[in-house]
Amino acid sequence: MAEMDRTTAQTFTRGATRFAPSPTGELHLGNARTALFNFLLARRAGERFVLRIEDTDASRSLAEHTEGLLADLVWLGLEWDAGPGCEDALGPYHQSQRGAFYARLFSQLEHQGAVYPCFCTALELAAARSAQRSAGRAPRYPGTCRELTESERSQRRAAGLAATLRFRVPSGRRIEFTDLVHGAQSFLSDDIGDFVVRRADGSAAFFFSNAVDDASMGVTQVLRGEDHLTNTPRQLLILEALGLPAPRYGHLALILGADGSPLSKRHGAASVREFRERGYRPEALINYLFRLGHSSPEHDLLGLEALVHAFDTHHLGRAPAHFDEQQLRVWQKAAVHRLSPAQARGWLGALLPQNVDPAAVEAFTTAVLPNVVLPEDAQEWVRIVFGAPPPLDAEGEQIVREAGATLFAAAARAVAVSGNDLAAIVAAARQASGRKGAQLYRPLRFALTGLGHGPELAPLLRAMPTGEIERRLARFA
Ligand code: GLU
Repeated sequence: MAEMDRTTAQTFTRGATRFAPSPTGELHLGNARTALFNFLLARRAGERFVLRIEDTDASRSLAEHTEGLLADLVWLGLEWDAGPGCEDALGPYHQSQRGAFYARLFSQLEHQGAVYPCFCTALELAAARSAQRSAGRAPRYPGTCRELTESERSQRRAAGLAATLRFRVPSGRRIEFTDLVHGAQSFLSDDIGDFVVRRADGSAAFFFSNAVDDASMGVTQVLRGEDHLTNTPRQLLILEALGLPAPRYGHLALILGADGSPLSKRHGAASVREFRERGYRPEALINYLFRLGHSSPEHDLLGLEALVHAFDTHHLGRAPAHFDEQQLRVWQKAAVHRLSPAQARGWLGALLPQNVDPAAVEAFTTAVLPNVVLPEDAQEWVRIVFGAPPPLDAEGEQIVREAGATLFAAAARAVAVSGNDLAAIVAAARQASGRKGAQLYRPLRFALTGLGHGPELAPLLRAMPTGEIERRLARFA
């Protein structure tokens, strides 16, 4: 016990940021960016990075989504210090397992008279909202059940009506806080209707569980989507009523698609899984997300350590960021350039033919990587290098014919003598034909690859068996 207390105390003194996804779908880019920024903020401040799964809504939360979220975060390199798989004294980190903790706090609030049971049905609430809207007022809970007497409550319970628990918002208060992104914020409590903290089925509502978990998990800084900005005053009221510490909140501007609407499926791929399956590299996604809404003088592809140093909440923009896949491709190109031969082999994976000599594969990836962004771009070159001799189009045929048979006969002989050494092949072809420069290279390139453009020839030839090179050249001798 003493040991646990000490751990808890140390954990608390360090402070923490967190990522708190609801497992109701796949991890999309907006949430991945939120996770990244919280991760960087924690590392930058020497704090812990906590992962909490907000699965109180049992009907929409799926275990497979949680699995997917965890796998995506690991793939991105955003490993958490506390959370699923690394529980500690401040857990559990699935909200669905924290019911007893919430129940204690609900009792405390009931005891203080800070909450009350509300028996209004969904229909009644909808009718009140529409009446308020047609009267030109912002819809909020009209307070129907706020002042019910104990006997009125008992009657409703006896009639079998289910009750939610509502927070009694104090009147005449100004709620102020400084947002890490948007600066000073001020809300009037009179604009906030009493809100539900416990659903009729007994589960904790988002406002509540999210706020009290931050406090109990020692979270000191929270970066989250701007859609939560107006939730913050409610959450501050809950924490205040319970005498719990509030984190500093920062609300991140949205990510928009090219058409200006919030990024979603309609804009094509939007989930991390989709980008991963298309062959995007995690470091490319991370570098691009880092620049979406965070200005930086660093224009190079940075590793996570360097991103930690470059991250600064003062550089977070207030305006929405626009997602542009062309920009992501630029980062991807940079990431692909940096792959080691072993990484490149893993990245191209199933595309590469089996049973090919590892040295040939390495020569192939060296040749091809500068020309590809996604694995699918390498497909054609796998076929050209490892497949049957490629046919030539009309232009290729003409160029090869004009170059003449002597050139190819000499080139094929050079292969028989010196193997797949481009310099030797070129020297022999030059001597036999008197050609040089493009006049010499283009016909050779067409004969060897079927195309007039492509990756550097020397490493491409090192990827091919000598006999194959000789055969391709001899076709035109
Ligand atoms: N589960 C909430 C969401 O995914 C968390 C919001 C927050 O970060 O506070 O939107």
